[in-house]
Amino acid sequence: MHGYGGAEQLFYESCEPPKITEPDEVIVKLKAAGLNHIDIWNRMGATGIVMAMPHILGADGAGVVVETGAKVENVKVGDAVCLYPPTGCGQCDYCRSERDFMCIRLRVLGERLEGTYAQYVKLPTQNCFPIPAGYSYHEAAAFPLVFITLWRMLITNAALEPGETMLIIGIGGGVASAALQLAKQIGARVIVTSGSDDKLERAKNLGADHGVNHFRENFVTAVQTLTDNRGVDVVLDSVGGDVWRQSLASLARGGRLVTCGATAGGQPQDDIAAIVAKQLKIYGSTLGSRREFFQLISFLNATKIKPIIDSVFPLSDAANAQRYVEAAKQFGKVVLDIPD
Ligand SMILES: [Zn+2]
Repeated sequence: MHGYGGAEQLFYESCEPPKITEPDEVIVKLKAAGLNHIDIWNRMGATGIVMAMPHILGADGAGVVVETGAKVENVKVGDAVCLYPPTGCGQCDYCRSERDFMCIRLRVLGERLEGTYAQYVKLPTQNCFPIPAGYSYHEAAAFPLVFITLWRMLITNAALEPGETMLIIGIGGGVASAALQLAKQIGARVIVTSGSDDKLERAKNLGADHGVNHFRENFVTAVQTLTDNRGVDVVLDSVGGDVWRQSLASLARGGRLVTCGATAGGQPQDDIAAIVAKQLKIYGSTLGSRREFFQLISFLNATKIKPIIDSVFPLSDAANAQRYVEAAKQFGKVVLDIPD
């Protein structure tokens, strides 16, 4: 990436490979990188994070360890690994209480650390984790950011329980499709919305109990009908904008709204009266702890859930892969295949 802006800022070119400078670092030869919306926000300069140019994007990746620093013990050369994206300063209050994903000097792959749209990436060895059983490199690069964020939102924060009803706004993207998989595995009843009948059909094939086409039907009304006017227990709204208020209106008393971003606008109109009267909780979340990442990998091993991959682009075509995600054409994750 040569500067902030559109996908035309992305170039496929050679650069110096990373070199180990600290004893706890490793170098991973990447086989695949996963795309996330955060890559696009970083490219646009919308996150406010200042990155030295040229910069390598990409928070998600999987590959093989090819070099280790002098003090590395948890992995060795030749190990297949997936990557936990964030790392902290090790010194602030959050880092010292094992919450380094909340570090005030947080560094995330593809942001303050060079990312995974590359053949090699350098990172702290404690960010290397074993790939879930039976996963391909593409799948191992597709799950970390989305699934760790969801794990924290749905399991730790919203504490979604079996038998509860969950509403997922805008089924299609990596977050929403993974949320559907997680919620069904937990035993929740799931309602999804989309403007595409095709996406609603695919969601039903993945276990969604009800689909609402929001172009034809007001989803708040539909939710009230489907829940005997009670509302849902949990809403996942990563769309925001005009949808936010409707998400609040869809919640039952004591309901929880979780969000990890707002693709349609981050300054929505709120409804404080509803938040107060219905005793609602709103959880904002991004990433999750290493402990949660461990739990997640164990869960994936136990349930055999795999991320849904919509399409694979070659690394050289990363700009078009981002354009494809920006057009919201996908159902599931978009992955970059990285050549040897
Ligand atoms: Zn810190």
